Amino acid sequence: MAGTDPKRPSTPTAIFRSALGRCPRCGQGRLLHHYLKMVDCCSVCGEPYGHYRTDDAAPWLTILVVGHLTVPIILICEINFHPPIALALAIYLPLIVGLTLFLLPRCKGIMAAILWAMQAEGSEKI
Ligand SMILES: [Zn+2]
Repeated sequence: MAGTDPKRPSTPTAIFRSALGRCPRCGQGRLLHHYLKMVDCCSVCGEPYGHYRTDDAAPWLTILVVGHLTVPIILICEINFHPPIALALAIYLPLIVGLTLFLLPRCKGIMAAILWAMQAEGSEKI
């Protein structure tokens, strides 16, 4: 149960730590390696993470955030500046791809922290 472990942080703290790619429990060890692969366990506190599967939740959250960030920017640019299509693509595509690649591991960390905070069993045991 939450609250029985004195070293267990609050859910917002765990989410913040894992959004930075750190262990939700201790905030020291890494949560992901090789970009999106969950570590089997934290190298500092030993908390197991390998059995958590975020599945499509991380891409869903990434699309949600990237869409809400980029669509208003694109609409404002299109309405006010009417850029040529080549210039628009040269600006929008790197923006969207860059934001997606930047946010995807953070969103995966957030989803893993939510699973961890809920003490979900995970779909695969180690
Ligand atoms: Zn840890």
